[in-house]
Amino acid sequence: MTIETTGSPAELLKDLIRCASVTPVEDGALDVLERFLTPLGFACTRLVFEGDGSYPVDNLFATRGSGGRHILFAGHTDVVPVGDEAAWTHGPFAADEADGMIWGRGAVDMKSGVAAFCAAVAQAVAYGTADKGTISLAITNDEEADAINGSVKLLDWAAQQGHRFDFAIVGEPSSYAVMGDSIKIGRRGSLSGIVTVRGKQGHSAYPDRANNPMPHLAALARHLATAELDEGTEHFQPSNLEITSIDTGNTATNVIPAAGRLSFNIRFNDLWTADSLRAWIDQQIQSAATEGISISWKQVAAVAQSFVSPLSDDVTAVCDAVETVTGRRPDLATFGGTSDARFIAPFCPVIECGLVGTTMHQVDERVPVAELEQLTEIYRQSLAAFFAKS
Ligand SMILES: [Zn+2]
Repeated sequence: MTIETTGSPAELLKDLIRCASVTPVEDGALDVLERFLTPLGFACTRLVFEGDGSYPVDNLFATRGSGGRHILFAGHTDVVPVGDEAAWTHGPFAADEADGMIWGRGAVDMKSGVAAFCAAVAQAVAYGTADKGTISLAITNDEEADAINGSVKLLDWAAQQGHRFDFAIVGEPSSYAVMGDSIKIGRRGSLSGIVTVRGKQGHSAYPDRANNPMPHLAALARHLATAELDEGTEHFQPSNLEITSIDTGNTATNVIPAAGRLSFNIRFNDLWTADSLRAWIDQQIQSAATEGISISWKQVAAVAQSFVSPLSDDVTAVCDAVETVTGRRPDLATFGGTSDARFIAPFCPVIECGLVGTTMHQVDERVPVAELEQLTEIYRQSLAAFFAKS
């Protein structure tokens, strides 16, 4: 296994892809990083978190220096399953380089991000930039699945150790159509629930002897789907509720079902919290004035609050770096799903800056080597600007 310590991300990325680190199996990916970071002067701590109804997860916290400004790079080494392995042009864990690309599961989401910021850090160490302050890396092997024993506990642990970060960069794919067209400065929150309406089962020919829950459920679905939550905010699109299922489990056409269930998911902006949304839904349900109606919420771990990071010189410096390297001034975006950045937001301003996500989670996931190198240069320049401001 070859490991570059001079700042080339490609070999490090290949070493990472060769580890079949499908959540929660680590398969040596964190060992690869430890071997890369230790010679650079990083103190590496491996932390296995477990419990809370989820599988045990291996995590890595690496830190170098003390005093000065403190920057955190964060990411994950776990990947989603490969799907139909036979459909891959190159083996999903072979890390082949062909047609100017490196192929494999995690090539975009997000072993490239990890390889790029490690390579950028190696350059900062080589040129002395890193000695002006403190650099830490928080890497989990559980972002793609439960995310219960990963970043959320890793960040808590780091805070307990006395680490205080001034700024964090997550290496998730953040570009939309082309490299550098957007970085993410926040994320919408996500909340899911299930409304159940109970009636009374009966023969469809004798509706007076039954109580059909379905018309009530349909009326509620229509009400929830058309209600306007808000009109959006400066950095966020309007909050949105999607009905994801209406279901009775009833296979007979001559039976009035005893109960029906309606599932929904809300993606919400910074005008709401999970609590205020729960209260809003309760209100809607009460105003429906239907008997036998109840709601259950998805477990608390599945709730993701929204966040937006304050615009600062550090955010501007990242935008400057993106523009210098790609020729594009990035949009400050908040679209898309949730990410581990939400676990960092309570501790420090956090942005996500990374590749275009087109092939992530797909067969033939791959990254152009040129974009991997661009991303490394963006991180290197961001680091230099971060430590220039002391
Ligand atoms: Zn990811």
